[in-house]
Amino acid sequence: MEAGRVYNFNPGPATLPLEVLKEAQAEFLNFNNSGMSILEISHRAPQYAAVHEKAKQDIKDLMGLGDDYEVLFCQGGASQQFAMIPLNYATKEHPGSYVLSGSFAEKAYKEAEHLGVGEIIASSKETGYHHVPQQDELKIDPNAAYVHVCYNNTIYGTEYHYIPETNGVPLFADMSSDMLSRPVDFHKFDFIYAGVQKNLGPAGVVLVVAKKSLLEKSPEKLPTMFRYSTFYKKDSLYNTPPAFCIYMVGKVAAWIKAQGGLEEMARRNERKAKVVYDAIDNSNGFYRGHADKESRSFMNVTFRLPSEELEKKFVAEALTHQLSGVKGHRSVGGMRASIYNAMPYEGAVALAEFMEKFRKENA
Ligand SMILES: *Cc1c(COP(=O)(O)O)cnc(C)c1O
Repeated sequence: MEAGRVYNFNPGPATLPLEVLKEAQAEFLNFNNSGMSILEISHRAPQYAAVHEKAKQDIKDLMGLGDDYEVLFCQGGASQQFAMIPLNYATKEHPGSYVLSGSFAEKAYKEAEHLGVGEIIASSKETGYHHVPQQDELKIDPNAAYVHVCYNNTIYGTEYHYIPETNGVPLFADMSSDMLSRPVDFHKFDFIYAGVQKNLGPAGVVLVVAKKSLLEKSPEKLPTMFRYSTFYKKDSLYNTPPAFCIYMVGKVAAWIKAQGGLEEMARRNERKAKVVYDAIDNSNGFYRGHADKESRSFMNVTFRLPSEELEKKFVAEALTHQLSGVKGHRSVGGMRASIYNAMPYEGAVALAEFMEKFRKENA
C-alpha cells in the first residue's frame, strides 16, 4: 500500500486505481504540452477532443459493442437518468416496466410513477431485498416501452447473475455499481447507464451506452437538456461537459484495457469477493450476510454482526487497521465492503484477516 493511504471500501465516490491517480497528478499542471491543466482547456480544443473520443472508443471496445451503439456523457447523476428515461421513452399507453430489487430500483420506478407512466413487474421488497428477482418472477408486459432493472444493488449487496429475457421489450439497466466489472453480453441490453463514481471515476458524469436507434429521436416537448437526442446529435458537447471527469473515466477505461479487460476484472473481482464471503461463511454465524447466496454481489459485500454495539466497534477498529469505509448504508445497517475494480486483492485479504481477528476477540 502507498504510504499514508488506506484500503478504501467506500461505496461511491470510491477507490480509484493508484496508477491512474498518479498519472493524473503527473500531468496536472501541463496537460499534453498545452501549458495548461486539463481543467483549464476549452472543451472545443483539439487536446480535449482527443480525450473525449478515446474515452468513448475504449468503453465501446471493452463492452464489445459496435456502430449500432453510442456512448453519451450526461450529468445530474444516475438519479437524473431515473427521470430522463421515462420522460424520453414511456407513455401512458406504453409504460416503463420496473423490476424492484433495492433502493435505487425503487427510486427509478418512483420517477416513472410520478409521471404516471410506470408499472412494477416484479419485486423482492416484501422479502427484504435479499435476492434479485429471477426470470420466473418477471411478469413481462409485451406492451411496455422498456423493462428497467438495477443490475447491481449497491446498498443491499445483490447482483444479477443472468440477463432477463424480455420477449422483445427493450432492456434498460442501471449498472452504476458494476459497470465494466465483468464481461456481460451487452448486446442484449438496449440502454445502459452508470453514475461513474462507483467503479469508473470521480463523481460528476453519467455514462450512457445505448442503441443509436433509441437516441436519435426524443419527444419535441422536452426541454433541450432532457432530450437524449441533444446529447447524441452534439456528441455530448451541446453544453460544457464535465471535462475533468471524462478525462478520468478515459484513464480508468485505458487502465482496465491494459490490465487485460473485463475478463481480468471479473477474475480479480471474483477472487476478492470469495475471500470476504468466505470470512462470513466460516464465522459460525458471527457474521450474517444480507444477500442470498445466488444473488451475492461481486462489488458490495453486506453483512451484519451480532449487535449494533459490535458493529460500531468493528467500524472503529477497522480504521486502526487502515480499513476505511466499511460502514453499511443507514437503511440496511451493518457493514458494507465495496470491492470495486480498483480495490487490490491485498485489501480484500486485509479485511478478511481483520474480520477473523475481530470475531475471535468478540465472539
Ligand atoms: C449510487 C447509485 C445511484 C445514484 O447515483 P447518483 O449518481 O448519485 O445519482 C443509482 N443507482 C445505483 C445502482 C447506484 O449505486
